[in-house]
Amino acid sequence: MNIHEYQAKEVFRRYGIPTPQGIAAFSVAEAVEAAKRLIHDTDSQVVVVKAQIHAGGRGKAGGVKVVKGADAAKSAAEELLGKVLVTPQTGPEGKKVQRLYVEQGLAIAGEYYLAAAVDRESKRVVIMASSEGGVDIEEVAEKHPEKIHKVFVDPAVGLMPYQIRQLAYGLGLSKKAQRSFHKLLSSLAQLFVEEDCSIAEVNPMIVTADQECIALDAKINFVGNGAFRH
Ligand code: ADP
Ligand code: MG
Repeated sequence: MNIHEYQAKEVFRRYGIPTPQGIAAFSVAEAVEAAKRLIHDTDSQVVVVKAQIHAGGRGKAGGVKVVKGADAAKSAAEELLGKVLVTPQTGPEGKKVQRLYVEQGLAIAGEYYLAAAVDRESKRVVIMASSEGGVDIEEVAEKHPEKIHKVFVDPAVGLMPYQIRQLAYGLGLSKKAQRSFHKLLSSLAQLFVEEDCSIAEVNPMIVTADQECIALDAKINFVGNGAFRH
């Protein structure tokens, strides 16, 4: 089972994973209201209008619009709602945009890839992290597998602090960002197990200018067999 980015971010927030402020919108009018509220609440004109479809790769396909001001947000919403987006993950027929997520625009100092998944071979949860975030991680996996750092979680003890440190070093995070990363990743690992996920992906996780780690994108898939528990 697959959910939208804005729904995955609601789950993230329940586990204390920092995300940008955002509001889901189902019409242009709602998107404008959302943009105005975010501009007011964050005291910044920069908002991001994001198409909600069950596929990634939206940025490159024009499905993520970083704009300034409520009028520009309106134009972006008009352009996106009802549009068929074709991304490398939708197939050639594309997917129709029926929902938007209007989000606070954040200044990005660094973009990283972070994900939890099930490794069938070791029968453990694997955490993957890479400094090559934001871009096509499949391509990194193929051409530069050494740039993806992995740790495997022992189910008896859970994700250990030394494993988080290992990943943080691999990403080359500052001392302050490491503390923030520790909290984010501990929460992600807990969420992954408690919510019966098959994948929980943050691409990109960003580091802001003041060295805070934030989930800028969120993708969660659930294991169908665990659905009865929720
Ligand atoms: P997708 O993975 O479907 O392309 P993302 O949510 O990862 O969509 O967004 C693509 C890119 O757009 C990000 O890598 C980032 O550069 C930019 N972006 C997305 N959300 C924000 C935001 N809230 N603030 C600033 N930039 C953003
Ligand atoms: Mg993404």
